[in-house]
Amino acid sequence: MTIPFFDGHNDTLLRLLESSDADKGQSFISGTGGGHIDLPRARAAGMAGGFFAMFPPPLKTSLAAVTGTPQLEPNLPPELAWGDAMASTTGMASLLLRLEQAGALALCRSVADIAAAQARGVLAAIFHIEGAEAIDTNFYTLDLLHAAGLRSVGITWSRANAFGTGVPFRHNADPDIGPGLSDLGKELVRRCNQMGIMIDLSHLNAAGFRDVAAISSHPLVATHSNVHAISPHARNLVDWQLASIRESGGVVGLNFATGFLRPDGKFVTDTPMELMVRHVDALVEAVGEDGVGLGSDFDGAMVPAGIGDVTGVPKLLQALLDKGYGEALVGKIAMGNWMRVVAEVMG
Ligand code: ZN
Repeated sequence: MTIPFFDGHNDTLLRLLESSDADKGQSFISGTGGGHIDLPRARAAGMAGGFFAMFPPPLKTSLAAVTGTPQLEPNLPPELAWGDAMASTTGMASLLLRLEQAGALALCRSVADIAAAQARGVLAAIFHIEGAEAIDTNFYTLDLLHAAGLRSVGITWSRANAFGTGVPFRHNADPDIGPGLSDLGKELVRRCNQMGIMIDLSHLNAAGFRDVAAISSHPLVATHSNVHAISPHARNLVDWQLASIRESGGVVGLNFATGFLRPDGKFVTDTPMELMVRHVDALVEAVGEDGVGLGSDFDGAMVPAGIGDVTGVPKLLQALLDKGYGEALVGKIAMGNWMRVVAEVMG
């Protein structure tokens, strides 16, 4: 039995953009480009779709540093210029549109779009930007990107920008680091609320989280974050954040990155599936059965060897069934909870 699932976060578009292929989408379709997700493996795994992040990298070398060993230095990566963010975001958006034109996926703007894609057997993609650097301070590009299909915005990645401040990649650290949202950041939240664009809290610092919770009319969502009480990384969610997400009717997507799963914060593939189940247990306890989803971080992070790539997701779902989770709950964690929030935010 294959359980369909919807993934809260992948960095596949950046992997493809940075690949050496002349036609950057072709290896995704043929399944020859490696990485964690491509079309043949997504189909085999039962992946119905997911949030496809557009992450504008600060520098090519620093991305490797992020996905390799934990960065222990206290300083955040440097801020990114609007033009640089726009250039790489345009590249990744173009890739998404070309993949849609090639029939490899469907760019979805609502839960009805996702259901239609699923009925056709096509991978459903939600256009997400990870960090709002590509949005100018007049919000002109917000309108443009929304028209192109943008439906999910992470206000920051792990750096500061005109809108807010992210958390550093630091183990044994609390996310309460740095100031909250700027006035522009608060305006961005209001505009996203009006436009049916989901706000993603993963990577945002605690003060920014509080600001979004105070302003936003939408359920609070962290697409790819884990439980700080198990893995005390600044990227993970502390108790009051989980309670706040629960109160809003939001969702947390389980991040598969080993450094955010492990109590010791190490990025090593030798990380047991049992630890992923422990985070799911804690998330269900803290946020409720309606508040837990998947947020793999595939193609952007080192994942446990037992998962390997997208074809390993059914093993995690099976581990939950083996643990005594009922089929209905596993179905919610796999897909239902994301669909509920997408319907509430986007329609
Ligand atoms: Zn991320």
